Amino acid sequence: MMSNKIDVIIIGGGPSGLSAGVELKRAGVARVVVLEREPQAGGIPRHCGHPPFGMREFKWIYTGPQYARKLVKTAVEAGVEIRTLTSVVEALPGGKLLVTSDNGVEKISAQRVIYATGVRETPRSARIISGSRPLGVLNTGALQSMVYLKHRRPFKRPVIVGTELVSFSAIQTCRHMGIRPVAMIEQAARVTARWPVGLFPMLMRVPLHLNTRLVSIKGDKRVEAVEVENASRERRVIECDGVLLTGQFTPEATLARCGHLEIDAPSVGGSIRGSGGPVVDQYGRCSDPAYFAAGNLLRPVETAGWSWNEGRQVGRWVADDLAGDLAGDPLVTGENIHITIADPIIKFAMPQKISLPYKPERGMKHVQLRFTDSVKGTLVAEDGQGKVMWQCSLNTHRERRVLVPVAGLVSERSGGEIVFRVV
Ligand SMILES: Cc1cc2nc3c(=O)[nH]c(=O)nc-3n(C[C@H](O)[C@H](O)[C@H](O)COP(=O)(O)OP(=O)(O)OC[C@H]3O[C@@H](n4cnc5c(N)ncnc54)[C@H](O)[C@@H]3O)c2cc1C
Repeated sequence: MMSNKIDVIIIGGGPSGLSAGVELKRAGVARVVVLEREPQAGGIPRHCGHPPFGMREFKWIYTGPQYARKLVKTAVEAGVEIRTLTSVVEALPGGKLLVTSDNGVEKISAQRVIYATGVRETPRSARIISGSRPLGVLNTGALQSMVYLKHRRPFKRPVIVGTELVSFSAIQTCRHMGIRPVAMIEQAARVTARWPVGLFPMLMRVPLHLNTRLVSIKGDKRVEAVEVENASRERRVIECDGVLLTGQFTPEATLARCGHLEIDAPSVGGSIRGSGGPVVDQYGRCSDPAYFAAGNLLRPVETAGWSWNEGRQVGRWVADDLAGDLAGDPLVTGENIHITIADPIIKFAMPQKISLPYKPERGMKHVQLRFTDSVKGTLVAEDGQGKVMWQCSLNTHRERRVLVPVAGLVSERSGGEIVFRVV
């Protein structure tokens, strides 16, 4: 396995990594290897014990673990090699990787590497929450692994923090194990997930408190209560035995961040914005053209089906690249359009550049944008001289996907800049 004859290495065996592998094999690429640090491939869905997964991909409704098994089976049948319990610990220029496994530490390389390492939720250590450090504070991912993979019940009456889609998946996970959340709290005035998901806590008899933030966690050995504050700054204590910190996703980009790739984290109006993932062009190609990125690593956060589709597309473009058929290799042309954001209400724009010459038949069709808060106005894309290239009226909320057609941003010019702002 550790020979140098690998065509494409994919780091991460989740929906995007596995679908990229299948697409590469279907395009005739000889040797495609997926490296996965967990004992089984399948990614996050392995421990999402609930439906619905797979409608877009397989026209069928699966639970997460069924879906993960189906992805693995499809990849293996296509001829993708999957190496589990293998972690990539360093990525070097030109597609050279340092990996650890039962074989020890080894160096391997491939002509192209696809990062497909997904997202993670923000843990307590990275959130500003005061109080003691008792047992019983978890993210959804950790709860789901405990419940669905180890059949353990870490608490019986937690408070759920957050109202993203994953927060409702957390309620389902709790129900599966007979856990009864005592409250769901959300700092904003509205539920982050789209309607009608916000009705779910009421149906499940979980009291939902909007405009409420977590101030501190109380408890000696285990969580005993939390202190919360509402919009009028009134504080109260909710007794509970656990705290479930949901969402606030960030790309699992540590490897890319510690390596040589450019990361999207610009300072806009004094605030750090950006996807937090690698800077990519419309093909998912990173600042080192031996590396590509796919799936949720590109930006937080999309569903499994969306990530699967992105993996499939990036796999196809990597196959085109290996065949010398991908337009606009930045090492060759040196030309691209940089996409930037000029307004801190815009969280990120991805891809962050368009490699030229632009080929409308290939590459991402849309620039994906997200916002840090509810926003109404006009979304404007200007070129470097302030000329409006594209605009549309905007009425959206935090964490909602907004898509801007790439074709509308590219003119006869070669190179330059596109700046997004809200007016
Ligand atoms: C807790 C949680 C719950 C979610 N629930 C849902 C849901 O119910 N429905 C839904 O549609 N989406 C859900 N999502 C979104 C989820 O991210 C997508 O469903 C989908 O899994 C994204 O696919 P991916 O391939 O991009 O990443 P992932 O599925 O996260 O796969 C990434 C893989 O990369 C591996 N990896 C990471 N670093 C390395 C390394 N250095 N070396 C080797 N392997 C590595 C990981 O072990 C993992 O298997 C959830 C996300 C989280 C975090």
